[in-house]
Amino acid sequence: MSEPGIIKKLSEEVVNRIAAGEIVQRPSNALKELIENSLDAKSTNIVITVKAGGLKYLQIQDNGTGIRCEDLEIVCERFTTSKLREYEDLKEICTYGFRGEALASISHIAHLTILTKTATAKCAYKASYENGKLKAPIKPCAGNNGTQITVEDLFYNVIARKKALRSPTEEYTHIMEVVGGYAIHNSHVGFTLKKFGENTDLKTPIKSSVIENVRIIHGNAIARELMEIELEEPLLKLSLRGCITNVNYSHKKGTMLLFINHRMVDSQSIRKAVDSIYSTYLPKNSHAFVYLSLELDPRNVDVNVHPTKHEVQFLYEEQIIEKIKSCIETKLLSCNSTRVMYTQA
Ligand code: ADP
Ligand code: MG
Repeated sequence: MSEPGIIKKLSEEVVNRIAAGEIVQRPSNALKELIENSLDAKSTNIVITVKAGGLKYLQIQDNGTGIRCEDLEIVCERFTTSKLREYEDLKEICTYGFRGEALASISHIAHLTILTKTATAKCAYKASYENGKLKAPIKPCAGNNGTQITVEDLFYNVIARKKALRSPTEEYTHIMEVVGGYAIHNSHVGFTLKKFGENTDLKTPIKSSVIENVRIIHGNAIARELMEIELEEPLLKLSLRGCITNVNYSHKKGTMLLFINHRMVDSQSIRKAVDSIYSTYLPKNSHAFVYLSLELDPRNVDVNVHPTKHEVQFLYEEQIIEKIKSCIETKLLSCNSTRVMYTQA
């Protein structure tokens, strides 16, 4: 007979590290949180620098509001936020963040340094964190308005995860996807992505447009076939805008960029619906480029399903998907008769 196990409470550090691993599964998840923080801070320019697919080094510099020096002591603790005060606020949340968990999580699984300056502060301040706490006293120093966050040696203390993420190239691809998606969706904000010490891989200008940014990121073959779509459904409290390729364009993999209330998310049901419409028009096993931005009544969207916030549940899904399908179908039909042939120059 085997003995029963002895039940013991896990240490706070272990609990926090496990929780952190749920939010941050790979460098691109951490970067998504950091980009959302920069956007919440009203930045107009965001520069991202990466080493080894973000596993060694991931830095994001913004020109947003900055963080007040007096908040630096607790900013990396769990559940500290400037965005949510009451549970009831969750219903109408319009910032990306609200849990106050991102910086805390990252500080439990990486070396995190913040350099920040608010517009009214005389100088910038620099602080380094470990397990949610300051590692050393906060240092005054020189710096621009805004915030620079540096994440080094991600998963240094989560050996299994580190082993699972063996390919910096693959991680960099995920990072490109996240930066590319946010750059297209936030075309008024300038985004720059580069590998440390190398040339810039991606750069969108400040106050650009969605189509211009698609051209920069995905190339002219897609951009020249784009059509804008728009839809307002007051009854469903739905508003949709986006860009989709016409029937001249098809690709074996295709691209689907989906934002719901400005959050980059994935939805199998929307993906399937869009594919089913295009399948009538495109060659077999080929797909379109589709960028959709849905705005739904925040009260009908549950962003609280999972800590990574990738999965978003919303009310009236079936009706909303039907509307999206007919909007795309109408647009494709209207252009099918004006098919253009490009000749090679
Ligand atoms: P949340 O975004 O859910 O509030 P985070 O852990 O991501 O939680 O961030 C904690 C707090 O740190 C934010 O509420 C915000 O006040 C501040 N913060 C984080 N990043 C930035 C930034 N880039 N610029 C200004 N403030 C920031
Ligand atoms: Mg956040």
